[in-house]
Amino acid sequence: MEAVAHMPSLTLTDGRYLLQGVDVLDICQEYGAPLFVYDADNIRYKYEQMMMAFNGLPAKVKYPVKALNNINILRYFKKLGAGLDTVSIQEVMLGLKAGFTPQEIIFTPNCVSFDEIKAAVSLGVVINIDNIPMLEQFGHEYGDTVPCCIRFNPHLYGGGNNKIQVGHIDSKFGISVYQQRHVQRIVKINNIRVTGLHVHTGSDILDANVYLQGANIMFDIAREFPGLEFIDFGSGFKVPYKEGDVTTDLFEVGEKLREAYAQFTQDYGKEVELWFEPGKYLVSECGYFFMAVNVIKPTPSAVFVGVDSGLNHFIRPMMYGGYHDLLNVSNPESAVSRTYTVVGYICETDTFGWDRKMNEVREGDIICLRNAGAYGYTMSSNYNSRLRPAEVLIVNGEAKLIRERETFDDLLRGQTELSF
Ligand SMILES: *Cc1c(COP(=O)(O)O)cnc(C)c1O
Repeated sequence: MEAVAHMPSLTLTDGRYLLQGVDVLDICQEYGAPLFVYDADNIRYKYEQMMMAFNGLPAKVKYPVKALNNINILRYFKKLGAGLDTVSIQEVMLGLKAGFTPQEIIFTPNCVSFDEIKAAVSLGVVINIDNIPMLEQFGHEYGDTVPCCIRFNPHLYGGGNNKIQVGHIDSKFGISVYQQRHVQRIVKINNIRVTGLHVHTGSDILDANVYLQGANIMFDIAREFPGLEFIDFGSGFKVPYKEGDVTTDLFEVGEKLREAYAQFTQDYGKEVELWFEPGKYLVSECGYFFMAVNVIKPTPSAVFVGVDSGLNHFIRPMMYGGYHDLLNVSNPESAVSRTYTVVGYICETDTFGWDRKMNEVREGDIICLRNAGAYGYTMSSNYNSRLRPAEVLIVNGEAKLIRERETFDDLLRGQTELSF
Protein backbone atom coordinates (compact mmCIF):
# COMPACT_ATOMS: atom_id res chain seq x y z
CA MET A 1 0.00 0.00 0.00
CA GLU A 2 1.29 3.45 -0.90
CA ALA A 3 1.67 6.00 1.88
CA VAL A 4 -1.09 8.62 2.18
CA ALA A 5 0.54 11.77 0.79
CA HIS A 6 -1.59 14.53 2.34
CA MET A 7 -3.63 14.92 5.48
CA PRO A 8 -7.07 13.59 4.51
CA SER A 9 -9.86 15.84 5.71
CA LEU A 10 -13.33 17.11 4.99
CA THR A 11 -13.25 18.96 1.66
CA LEU A 12 -15.75 21.26 0.03
CA THR A 13 -16.00 20.42 -3.67
CA ASP A 14 -18.69 21.80 -5.97
CA GLY A 15 -20.88 22.73 -3.04
CA ARG A 16 -20.65 19.33 -1.38
CA TYR A 17 -18.72 18.27 1.70
CA LEU A 18 -16.77 15.11 0.96
CA LEU A 19 -14.75 12.54 2.89
CA GLN A 20 -12.65 10.35 0.61
CA GLY A 21 -14.93 11.56 -2.19
CA VAL A 22 -18.09 10.43 -0.40
CA ASP A 23 -20.78 13.10 0.19
CA VAL A 24 -21.26 13.34 3.96
CA LEU A 25 -24.94 14.25 3.55
CA ASP A 26 -25.45 10.99 1.64
CA ILE A 27 -23.87 9.10 4.56
CA CYS A 28 -26.17 10.88 7.01
CA GLN A 29 -29.12 10.15 4.74
CA GLU A 30 -28.28 6.46 4.66
CA TYR A 31 -27.42 5.87 8.32
CA GLY A 32 -29.28 8.72 9.99
CA ALA A 33 -28.10 11.36 12.45
CA PRO A 34 -26.61 11.59 14.99
CA LEU A 35 -23.74 9.66 13.50
CA PHE A 36 -20.03 9.12 14.11
CA VAL A 37 -18.01 8.89 10.89
CA TYR A 38 -14.32 7.97 10.81
CA ASP A 39 -11.92 8.32 7.89
CA ALA A 40 -9.51 5.36 7.74
CA ASP A 41 -7.12 7.23 5.43
CA ASN A 42 -6.71 9.88 8.09
CA ILE A 43 -5.77 7.25 10.69
CA ARG A 44 -3.28 5.73 8.28
CA TYR A 45 -1.82 9.13 7.43
CA LYS A 46 -1.26 9.98 11.09
CA TYR A 47 0.29 6.58 11.77
CA GLU A 48 2.61 6.88 8.78
CA GLN A 49 3.62 10.44 9.72
CA MET A 50 4.56 9.27 13.16
CA MET A 51 6.58 6.33 11.88
CA MET A 52 8.36 8.70 9.50
CA ALA A 53 9.11 11.14 12.30
CA PHE A 54 10.58 8.32 14.39
CA ASN A 55 12.43 6.78 11.49
CA GLY A 56 15.71 5.25 12.61
CA LEU A 57 14.39 4.54 16.09
CA PRO A 58 13.10 1.09 17.13
CA ALA A 59 9.67 2.70 17.55
CA LYS A 60 6.43 0.80 18.11
CA VAL A 61 2.94 2.20 18.42
CA LYS A 62 0.67 0.82 21.14
CA TYR A 63 -2.66 2.33 20.20
CA PRO A 64 -4.74 3.17 23.31
CA VAL A 65 -8.04 1.35 22.97
CA LYS A 66 -9.84 3.77 25.27
CA ALA A 67 -9.70 6.56 22.66
CA LEU A 68 -11.84 4.73 20.10
CA ASN A 69 -12.60 1.09 20.70
CA ASN A 70 -14.63 -0.17 17.77
CA ILE A 71 -13.24 -3.59 16.91
CA ASN A 72 -12.89 -2.59 13.25
CA ILE A 73 -10.69 0.32 14.27
CA LEU A 74 -8.59 -2.08 16.35
CA ARG A 75 -8.30 -4.45 13.38
CA TYR A 76 -7.28 -1.53 11.19
CA PHE A 77 -4.47 -0.70 13.61
CA LYS A 78 -3.43 -4.35 13.59
CA LYS A 79 -3.13 -4.14 9.82
CA LEU A 80 -1.03 -0.97 10.11
CA GLY A 81 1.36 -2.85 12.38
CA ALA A 82 0.46 -1.30 15.74
CA GLY A 83 0.00 -3.01 19.08
CA LEU A 84 -2.43 -1.91 21.80
CA ASP A 85 -2.43 -0.07 25.10
CA THR A 86 -5.25 -1.28 27.34
CA VAL A 87 -6.49 -0.06 30.71
CA SER A 88 -9.05 -2.70 31.63
CA ILE A 89 -9.34 -6.46 31.30
CA GLN A 90 -12.25 -5.87 28.92
CA GLU A 91 -10.02 -3.83 26.62
CA VAL A 92 -7.48 -6.66 26.75
CA MET A 93 -10.21 -9.07 25.69
CA LEU A 94 -11.33 -6.73 22.89
CA GLY A 95 -7.75 -6.58 21.64
CA LEU A 96 -7.36 -10.36 21.67
CA LYS A 97 -10.70 -10.68 19.91
CA ALA A 98 -9.50 -8.21 17.28
CA GLY A 99 -6.58 -10.54 16.53
CA PHE A 100 -3.67 -9.04 18.44
CA THR A 101 -1.25 -11.47 20.06
CA PRO A 102 -0.93 -11.11 23.85
CA GLN A 103 2.67 -9.88 23.45
CA GLU A 104 1.41 -7.00 21.31
CA ILE A 105 -0.83 -5.75 24.11
CA ILE A 106 0.29 -3.79 27.15
CA PHE A 107 -2.05 -3.65 30.13
CA THR A 108 -1.74 -0.38 32.04
CA PRO A 109 -4.39 -0.40 34.73
CA ASN A 110 -4.73 2.10 37.54
CA CYS A 111 -6.10 1.11 40.94
CA VAL A 112 -7.54 -2.19 39.71
CA SER A 113 -7.74 -5.25 41.91
CA PHE A 114 -4.90 -7.75 41.95
CA ASP A 115 -7.39 -10.31 40.60
CA GLU A 116 -7.69 -8.25 37.43
CA ILE A 117 -3.91 -8.22 37.06
CA LYS A 118 -3.84 -11.98 37.56
CA ALA A 119 -6.48 -12.36 34.85
CA ALA A 120 -4.34 -10.29 32.49
CA VAL A 121 -1.27 -12.39 33.35
CA SER A 122 -3.21 -15.53 32.49
CA LEU A 123 -4.08 -14.00 29.11
CA GLY A 124 -0.36 -13.46 28.51
CA VAL A 125 -0.27 -9.70 27.94
CA VAL A 126 2.49 -7.33 29.07
CA ILE A 127 1.73 -6.12 32.58
CA ASN A 128 2.45 -2.52 33.51
CA ILE A 129 2.47 -1.87 37.25
CA ASP A 130 1.58 1.53 38.61
CA ASN A 131 1.93 1.34 42.39
CA ILE A 132 4.26 -0.14 44.97
CA PRO A 133 1.79 -2.38 46.85
CA MET A 134 0.83 -4.01 43.53
CA LEU A 135 4.48 -4.43 42.63
CA GLU A 136 5.07 -6.21 45.94
CA GLN A 137 2.07 -8.45 45.44
CA PHE A 138 3.18 -9.15 41.88
CA GLY A 139 6.63 -10.10 43.14
CA HIS A 140 5.24 -12.40 45.85
CA GLU A 141 2.92 -14.11 43.39
CA TYR A 142 5.15 -14.48 40.36
CA GLY A 143 8.77 -13.88 41.41
CA ASP A 144 10.83 -14.06 38.24
CA THR A 145 8.32 -16.20 36.31
CA VAL A 146 6.34 -13.32 34.76
CA PRO A 147 8.07 -10.18 33.48
CA CYS A 148 6.57 -6.78 34.07
CA CYS A 149 6.83 -3.13 33.20
CA ILE A 150 6.86 -0.35 35.80
CA ARG A 151 5.04 2.95 35.37
CA PHE A 152 6.89 5.95 36.74
CA ASN A 153 5.63 9.46 37.31
CA PRO A 154 8.34 12.02 36.53
CA HIS A 155 6.19 14.92 37.79
CA LEU A 156 6.47 16.91 34.61
CA TYR A 157 3.92 19.53 33.76
CA GLY A 158 2.84 19.16 30.16
CA GLY A 159 0.11 21.74 29.68
CA GLY A 160 -3.53 21.19 28.80
CA ASN A 161 -6.62 20.70 30.97
CA ASN A 162 -6.05 19.68 34.60
CA LYS A 163 -8.36 16.70 34.22
CA ILE A 164 -6.01 15.24 31.63
CA GLN A 165 -2.85 16.04 33.57
CA VAL A 166 -1.54 12.83 35.04
CA GLY A 167 2.09 13.66 35.80
CA HIS A 168 1.70 16.29 38.51
CA ILE A 169 2.50 15.71 42.18
CA ASP A 170 -1.16 15.13 43.13
CA SER A 171 -1.67 12.62 40.35
CA LYS A 172 -2.80 9.10 41.20
CA PHE A 173 -0.87 7.66 38.25
CA GLY A 174 2.44 5.87 38.31
CA ILE A 175 5.12 5.45 40.92
CA SER A 176 6.95 8.64 41.80
CA VAL A 177 10.48 8.84 40.46
CA TYR A 178 11.44 9.73 44.03
CA GLN A 179 10.43 6.20 45.07
CA GLN A 180 12.88 4.62 42.71
CA ARG A 181 15.04 3.26 45.53
CA HIS A 182 12.05 1.59 47.12
CA VAL A 183 11.12 0.05 43.78
CA GLN A 184 14.63 -1.28 43.37
CA ARG A 185 14.47 -2.96 46.77
CA ILE A 186 11.21 -4.72 46.00
CA VAL A 187 12.46 -5.79 42.58
CA LYS A 188 15.65 -7.18 44.05
CA ILE A 189 14.16 -9.05 46.97
CA ASN A 190 11.48 -10.70 44.80
CA ASN A 191 13.67 -11.29 41.77
CA ILE A 192 11.14 -9.41 39.63
CA ARG A 193 12.03 -9.36 35.94
CA VAL A 194 11.52 -5.77 34.86
CA THR A 195 11.48 -5.74 31.05
CA GLY A 196 9.86 -2.36 30.53
CA LEU A 197 9.55 1.14 31.91
CA HIS A 198 6.57 3.35 31.26
CA VAL A 199 5.69 7.00 31.57
CA HIS A 200 2.56 8.85 30.54
CA THR A 201 2.67 12.41 31.73
CA GLY A 202 -0.51 13.89 30.44
CA SER A 203 -2.30 14.63 27.32
CA ASP A 204 -1.04 17.82 25.74
CA ILE A 205 2.70 18.32 25.54
CA LEU A 206 3.44 21.11 23.12
CA ASP A 207 7.11 21.49 23.51
CA ALA A 208 9.55 18.92 22.14
CA ASN A 209 11.97 19.93 24.88
CA VAL A 210 9.49 19.07 27.64
CA TYR A 211 8.95 15.73 25.93
CA LEU A 212 12.68 15.14 25.83
CA GLN A 213 13.04 16.09 29.46
CA GLY A 214 10.59 13.27 30.27
CA ALA A 215 12.43 10.90 27.95
CA ASN A 216 15.77 11.67 29.55
CA ILE A 217 14.39 11.04 33.02
CA MET A 218 13.29 7.62 31.75
CA PHE A 219 16.68 6.94 30.16
CA ASP A 220 18.28 7.78 33.50
CA ILE A 221 16.02 5.41 35.41
CA ALA A 222 16.56 2.77 32.72
CA ARG A 223 20.27 2.65 33.51
CA GLU A 224 19.27 1.10 36.85
CA PHE A 225 17.31 -1.72 35.21
CA PRO A 226 19.63 -3.95 33.17
CA GLY A 227 17.01 -6.31 31.71
CA LEU A 228 14.89 -3.86 29.73
CA GLU A 229 13.38 -4.75 26.38
CA PHE A 230 11.38 -1.55 25.94
CA ILE A 231 10.72 1.92 27.27
CA ASP A 232 7.16 3.12 26.80
CA PHE A 233 6.78 6.89 26.53
CA GLY A 234 2.99 6.88 26.71
CA SER A 235 1.26 9.72 24.94
CA GLY A 236 1.12 13.47 25.08
CA PHE A 237 1.12 14.68 21.49
CA LYS A 238 -1.20 17.62 20.92
CA VAL A 239 -3.54 17.83 17.97
CA PRO A 240 -5.10 20.96 16.45
CA TYR A 241 -8.72 21.68 17.34
CA LYS A 242 -8.98 24.95 15.51
CA GLU A 243 -7.20 26.92 12.87
CA GLY A 244 -3.87 28.20 14.11
CA ASP A 245 -3.56 25.76 17.05
CA VAL A 246 0.04 24.93 17.78
CA THR A 247 0.73 21.20 17.80
CA THR A 248 3.59 18.98 18.89
CA ASP A 249 6.20 18.83 16.15
CA LEU A 250 6.75 15.10 15.95
CA PHE A 251 9.64 15.47 13.54
CA GLU A 252 11.40 17.68 16.06
CA VAL A 253 10.65 15.19 18.84
CA GLY A 254 11.97 12.40 16.60
CA GLU A 255 15.20 14.22 15.89
CA LYS A 256 15.89 14.99 19.54
CA LEU A 257 14.91 11.49 20.56
CA ARG A 258 17.33 9.94 18.06
CA GLU A 259 20.16 11.86 19.67
CA ALA A 260 19.13 11.02 23.23
CA TYR A 261 18.56 7.38 22.29
CA ALA A 262 21.95 7.02 20.63
CA GLN A 263 23.57 8.34 23.79
CA PHE A 264 21.48 6.04 25.94
CA THR A 265 22.22 2.84 24.02
CA GLN A 266 25.90 3.65 24.12
CA ASP A 267 25.77 3.73 27.93
CA TYR A 268 23.23 0.95 28.30
CA GLY A 269 25.07 -1.44 26.00
CA LYS A 270 22.05 -2.69 24.06
CA GLU A 271 19.03 -1.62 22.09
CA VAL A 272 15.60 -1.36 23.66
CA GLU A 273 12.38 -0.76 21.78
CA LEU A 274 10.67 2.61 22.22
CA TRP A 275 6.90 2.41 22.56
CA PHE A 276 4.40 5.22 22.06
CA GLU A 277 0.71 5.36 22.94
CA PRO A 278 -0.80 8.32 21.11
CA GLY A 279 -4.59 8.20 21.25
CA LYS A 280 -5.78 11.67 20.31
CA TYR A 281 -2.91 12.07 17.88
CA LEU A 282 -3.96 8.97 15.95
CA VAL A 283 -7.75 9.17 16.01
CA SER A 284 -9.03 12.59 17.06
CA GLU A 285 -8.96 14.14 13.61
CA CYS A 286 -10.26 11.08 11.76
CA GLY A 287 -13.65 11.49 13.41
CA TYR A 288 -16.67 13.63 12.52
CA PHE A 289 -19.87 13.72 14.50
CA PHE A 290 -22.97 14.67 12.54
CA MET A 291 -26.06 16.00 14.30
CA ALA A 292 -29.36 17.18 12.82
CA VAL A 293 -30.84 20.52 13.84
CA ASN A 294 -34.14 20.23 15.70
CA VAL A 295 -34.83 23.86 16.48
CA ILE A 296 -33.43 27.34 16.19
CA LYS A 297 -34.28 29.25 19.31
CA PRO A 298 -33.56 32.97 19.64
CA THR A 299 -33.43 34.10 23.28
CA PRO A 300 -32.51 37.49 24.79
CA SER A 301 -28.89 36.35 25.02
CA ALA A 302 -28.14 34.18 22.00
CA VAL A 303 -29.48 32.22 19.08
CA PHE A 304 -29.46 28.61 20.19
CA VAL A 305 -29.22 25.83 17.67
CA GLY A 306 -30.73 22.75 19.30
CA VAL A 307 -29.50 19.46 17.84
CA ASP A 308 -30.66 15.87 18.20
CA SER A 309 -27.72 14.89 20.41
CA GLY A 310 -26.01 16.00 23.58
CA LEU A 311 -23.34 15.37 26.17
CA ASN A 312 -24.61 11.79 26.32
CA HIS A 313 -23.01 11.27 22.90
CA PHE A 314 -20.11 13.67 23.04
CA ILE A 315 -19.03 14.86 26.45
CA ARG A 316 -15.67 16.54 25.81
CA PRO A 317 -16.94 20.15 25.63
CA MET A 318 -18.86 19.82 28.93
CA MET A 319 -16.38 17.58 30.73
CA TYR A 320 -13.09 19.17 29.71
CA GLY A 321 -14.18 22.47 28.24
CA GLY A 322 -12.87 21.04 24.97
CA TYR A 323 -13.20 23.22 21.88
CA HIS A 324 -14.58 21.45 18.82
CA ASP A 325 -15.13 23.09 15.47
CA LEU A 326 -18.76 23.17 14.35
CA LEU A 327 -19.74 23.45 10.74
CA ASN A 328 -23.06 23.58 8.94
CA VAL A 329 -22.52 21.05 6.16
CA SER A 330 -26.04 21.47 4.76
CA ASN A 331 -25.70 25.08 3.66
CA PRO A 332 -22.19 25.54 2.25
CA GLU A 333 -23.24 28.18 -0.25
CA SER A 334 -25.16 30.34 2.16
CA ALA A 335 -24.70 34.05 1.55
CA VAL A 336 -24.96 34.83 5.26
CA SER A 337 -23.17 33.53 8.26
CA ARG A 338 -24.50 34.11 11.77
CA THR A 339 -23.36 33.62 15.32
CA TYR A 340 -24.93 30.64 17.05
CA THR A 341 -24.63 28.70 20.25
CA VAL A 342 -25.02 25.01 19.55
CA VAL A 343 -26.65 23.02 22.33
CA GLY A 344 -27.83 19.46 22.92
CA TYR A 345 -31.16 18.03 24.05
CA ILE A 346 -30.02 16.81 27.49
CA CYS A 347 -31.85 18.24 30.47
CA GLU A 348 -28.96 20.14 31.94
CA THR A 349 -26.48 22.62 30.54
CA ASP A 350 -25.32 20.89 27.45
CA THR A 351 -23.33 23.09 25.10
CA PHE A 352 -21.28 21.97 22.10
CA GLY A 353 -20.03 25.46 21.33
CA TRP A 354 -20.70 29.08 22.28
CA ASP A 355 -20.76 31.94 19.78
CA ARG A 356 -19.83 30.05 16.67
CA LYS A 357 -19.95 31.70 13.32
CA MET A 358 -21.62 29.33 10.90
CA ASN A 359 -23.34 29.48 7.55
CA GLU A 360 -27.00 30.20 8.15
CA VAL A 361 -28.57 27.28 10.01
CA ARG A 362 -32.07 26.03 9.22
CA GLU A 363 -34.13 23.31 10.87
CA GLY A 364 -33.10 19.92 9.52
CA ASP A 365 -29.57 21.03 8.61
CA ILE A 366 -26.68 18.78 9.56
CA ILE A 367 -24.04 20.20 11.91
CA CYS A 368 -20.63 18.57 11.82
CA LEU A 369 -18.49 18.51 14.97
CA ARG A 370 -14.83 17.92 14.19
CA ASN A 371 -12.12 16.05 16.13
CA ALA A 372 -14.77 13.56 17.19
CA GLY A 373 -12.69 10.41 16.80
CA ALA A 374 -11.03 10.28 20.22
CA TYR A 375 -13.07 10.02 23.43
CA GLY A 376 -16.32 10.49 21.55
CA TYR A 377 -18.15 7.22 21.25
CA THR A 378 -16.12 5.58 24.02
CA MET A 379 -17.33 8.17 26.53
CA SER A 380 -20.95 8.12 25.37
CA SER A 381 -23.77 6.97 27.62
CA ASN A 382 -27.49 6.36 27.76
CA TYR A 383 -28.11 9.41 29.96
CA ASN A 384 -31.68 10.68 29.59
CA SER A 385 -32.45 7.17 28.28
CA ARG A 386 -31.16 8.16 24.88
CA LEU A 387 -29.76 5.65 22.42
CA ARG A 388 -26.16 5.70 21.28
CA PRO A 389 -25.52 6.65 17.65
CA ALA A 390 -24.20 4.42 14.87
CA GLU A 391 -20.57 4.43 13.72
CA VAL A 392 -19.38 4.46 10.11
CA LEU A 393 -15.86 3.91 8.79
CA ILE A 394 -14.86 5.24 5.38
CA VAL A 395 -12.33 2.89 3.90
CA ASN A 396 -11.18 2.65 0.28
CA GLY A 397 -13.65 5.36 -0.71
CA GLU A 398 -16.65 3.55 0.75
CA ALA A 399 -18.72 4.29 3.83
CA LYS A 400 -19.22 1.12 5.89
CA LEU A 401 -21.40 0.70 8.95
CA ILE A 402 -19.21 -0.55 11.82
CA ARG A 403 -21.71 -0.26 14.67
CA GLU A 404 -25.47 -0.16 14.52
CA ARG A 405 -27.47 2.54 16.21
CA GLU A 406 -28.85 1.32 19.52
CA THR A 407 -32.48 0.35 19.79
CA PHE A 408 -34.98 0.64 22.61
CA ASP A 409 -34.33 -3.02 23.48
CA ASP A 410 -30.70 -2.14 24.22
CA LEU A 411 -31.94 0.17 26.98
CA LEU A 412 -33.78 -2.65 28.70
CA ARG A 413 -31.21 -5.38 28.10
CA GLY A 414 -30.08 -6.94 31.35
CA GLN A 415 -32.79 -5.32 33.44
CA THR A 416 -34.98 -7.70 35.40
CA GLU A 417 -38.65 -7.04 36.04
CA LEU A 418 -39.92 -7.25 39.58
CA SER A 419 -43.63 -7.43 40.23
CA PHE A 420 -45.03 -5.04 42.83
C1 LIG B 1 -5.17 7.77 27.97
C2 LIG B 1 -3.85 7.17 27.79
C3 LIG B 1 -3.17 7.30 26.56
C4 LIG B 1 -3.68 8.13 25.41
O1 LIG B 1 -3.72 9.51 25.67
P1 LIG B 1 -4.08 10.55 24.51
O2 LIG B 1 -4.23 11.83 25.18
O3 LIG B 1 -5.36 10.09 23.87
O4 LIG B 1 -3.00 10.51 23.51
C5 LIG B 1 -1.97 6.64 26.45
N1 LIG B 1 -1.45 5.90 27.45
C6 LIG B 1 -2.08 5.76 28.64
C7 LIG B 1 -1.49 4.93 29.71
C8 LIG B 1 -3.30 6.39 28.85
O5 LIG B 1 -3.92 6.26 30.03
